[in-house]
Amino acid sequence: MSGITIALSKGRIFEETLPLLAAAGIVPAEDPEKSRKLIIGTNRDDVRVVIVRASDVPTYVQYGAADLGIAGKDVLLEHGGVGLYQPLDLNIAKCRMCVAAPAGFDYAAAVRRGARLRIATKYIAVAREHFAAKGVHVDLIKLYGSMELAPLAGLAEAIVDLVSSGSTLKANNLVEVEEIMSISSRLVVNQAALKMKRDLLQPVIAAFEGAIR
Ligand code: ATP
Ligand code: MG
Repeated sequence: MSGITIALSKGRIFEETLPLLAAAGIVPAEDPEKSRKLIIGTNRDDVRVVIVRASDVPTYVQYGAADLGIAGKDVLLEHGGVGLYQPLDLNIAKCRMCVAAPAGFDYAAAVRRGARLRIATKYIAVAREHFAAKGVHVDLIKLYGSMELAPLAGLAEAIVDLVSSGSTLKANNLVEVEEIMSISSRLVVNQAALKMKRDLLQPVIAAFEGAIR
């Protein structure tokens, strides 16, 4: 494709990206929440948006099926970032990655004792690195959703998950016991596209940069 393709996920990333796109003079023709289309045109003939699962954004950009994309730091750390240029932290979709456990579980004491902990998470790579750096022995259990259920159902002692307000944890009687890192979304660019479509991509990157200032 001679124009540019931008990979976005529905929901918070799409919503929070709209003002950045507007700063670059790009207005999507449809709202992905209302349309079932996965390829959405824009006011510009040479720019289109593809709607993909949040965790698939780096893959589309890595292989050049999209030239640009917006993905959470959580997703990028799990993906590994191969083939991606990451020029900007967009400061959107902000939350934090943390360890959470049932209110009655003494996580600090279990860590001090050197206990082996079962941890359920979607974020295996981040969790593995976090506990390895602390010297905590863990069995990691991969889940794809609703991590909060795992301790309540007896699948794990604790979870590694994203938290923003904390209301989901609270509703399930869990407490944040450790913050691992703060999370926001980044612009990712296909490295080959950046060279070959520089004239088209550079103004978009510059407009995003101006808009986040
Ligand atoms: P899905 O909801 O389709 O299972 P997902 O949870 O990865 O996938 P979103 O919920 O759209 O997708 O989240 C997209 C990104 O937004 C995440 O990768 C993360 O960076 C960020 N995010 C996730 N949860 C929150 C939150 N509660 N508050 C703010 N940002 C969040
Ligand atoms: Mg989600």
